[in-house]
Amino acid sequence: MNNSILQAQDTKELLKAVIKLRNCLEDPLANTWQSALNDLEQACKSLPEPPILALMNKIHHLLSPYIENIGLENIPGEIINDCHIYIQKLEEVIAIHVMDPMLTTHDIAQSKPFLLIGLQDKQLTEEIIHQVIYFGYPSLACHSLHEIIQKVDASSTIYSAIILDTEYCKKEDLQTLKELSEKVPIIFISHHHDVASRLFAVQAGGRGYLVSPLEFTNLIEKIDQITTPTSERSPYRILIVEDSRTQAKVIRKHLEKAGMITEILLDPLKINDVLIEFQPDLILLDLYMPQCSGVDLAKVIRQQDMFVGIPIVYLSAEEDVGMQLTAIRGGGDDFLTKPIVPQYMIDAIAARAARSRTLRAEMIMDSLTETLNHTRILEQLELEIARAKRNKTPLSFAMIDIDHFKLINDSHGHPVGDRVIKGLARLLKQRLRRSDSIGRYGGEEFAIILPQTEPETFYAKLDEIRRGFSKLLHRSSDPLIEFSATFSAGLAKFNNQIHSVDEFVQAADKALYEAKAKGRNCIVLDGKSTLLP
Ligand code: GH3
Ligand code: MG
Ligand code: MG
Ligand code: MG
Repeated sequence: MNNSILQAQDTKELLKAVIKLRNCLEDPLANTWQSALNDLEQACKSLPEPPILALMNKIHHLLSPYIENIGLENIPGEIINDCHIYIQKLEEVIAIHVMDPMLTTHDIAQSKPFLLIGLQDKQLTEEIIHQVIYFGYPSLACHSLHEIIQKVDASSTIYSAIILDTEYCKKEDLQTLKELSEKVPIIFISHHHDVASRLFAVQAGGRGYLVSPLEFTNLIEKIDQITTPTSERSPYRILIVEDSRTQAKVIRKHLEKAGMITEILLDPLKINDVLIEFQPDLILLDLYMPQCSGVDLAKVIRQQDMFVGIPIVYLSAEEDVGMQLTAIRGGGDDFLTKPIVPQYMIDAIAARAARSRTLRAEMIMDSLTETLNHTRILEQLELEIARAKRNKTPLSFAMIDIDHFKLINDSHGHPVGDRVIKGLARLLKQRLRRSDSIGRYGGEEFAIILPQTEPETFYAKLDEIRRGFSKLLHRSSDPLIEFSATFSAGLAKFNNQIHSVDEFVQAADKALYEAKAKGRNCIVLDGKSTLLP
């Protein structure tokens, strides 16, 4: 039996039940609420997911006293309001399933654990709950530090993080917070900018400190960061340039033991090939090599815009500080002197690589969607073209554009439009491989590069994403209004008629234009297309 199909069917039933119940609440005199509640319970049973069950129980708990005795017209307004809020959350949890119709039971078992949110500001709490669920994090609101501690201690549930108002923490709570932060990571939210407040958060073991008014993107990013196990982050890629194979192997052994990926280059004249091929986070460079000096090689690397951002660290027995300074002036970032304690070398390299990744991320990423920015995606395309040419491997490229996006902005507002863009970016990231590149080409346009992929394979995958996206529900600024959006895409294959990045982009753009002309919500590839079923 195919679990994923069952899953999609159940999700649909649940969604129907939720909509039925919501309609009842809007029209209290309608006589269908008992059956609506029954339907909901029935549908929840076939989708025994903790967040869904918990929300369903809350709704049941609120409504059941009235259903049995009085008529729904007598339900107090605040109960109806609360019900609306739970229904809204339920819809959001469901939306995530609808967004991922291929979700298997295995995926659900792996779905993210709850966040605990302890903030004084009720409205902000609601907003955060609303936002984080959109990114796959269910959450629970708590009203004091005490309540949070009780929750963490009482249940065997593992929480993914705590979002905690500094207003809930007093000086004397420091030890308690320290112990708490060892069990569940804490992100502090505060009104205070000062160092003393930040210091308190650090001493309490806080993993993040965000100052309100909150930028939700930052919050989500922080949560993503601390809830992603280190093993799932991609390891640092270190290029070792060294003329002595023995030396290089010793370095490699230490770095790989620390979880890094290494590549050894013995011939400095091949530096460009290996930079394109291996794409290192950091270059570890020998100072003295027979073909050329490390300093000259660093200059060659720095001459090329594509490689300007990669940190270069010298590793050499040179002890003369003057020589070391010359080396750094020539384009290096740091100097490590041999012999070196392996752990010191590992720490120094990891710290440099981490810092450079953060800086590079800021330079090359689009902040709204956390995909590559316009310049960077085109640079990546250039790299991939070079790679495809040399290795004679296939390469596919697509341009995606959200349909009638102006209308979405006009009907629901710019911030809602932003969320639709983000939703698409997230879907793309979820569905594509790590080796694929996704970039925000412009406002509501994305560019995607799939190396080593035939366009037919890409087409099938992108079409699945297209269908998934069209089913994703977006919420308007009025929480009761939801809508869906679609995109069109043009797909191009790298071939010998294409000689440059520009030509490749144009080919995809032309296909995209055709897709729009065909009626949108479809993909065009070399004259073939699909329309929504
Ligand atoms: P089509 O189906 O032909 O693509 O129609 P469209 O309305 O999507 O096309 P058009 O390119 O005319 O409109 C794109 C709109 O996207 C115009 C612009 O105001 C809006 N936009 C651009 N960048 C952003 C952004 O970052 N956020 C939001 N919310 N809107 C943006
Ligand atoms: Mg040497
Ligand atoms: Mg556009
Ligand atoms: Mg558009």
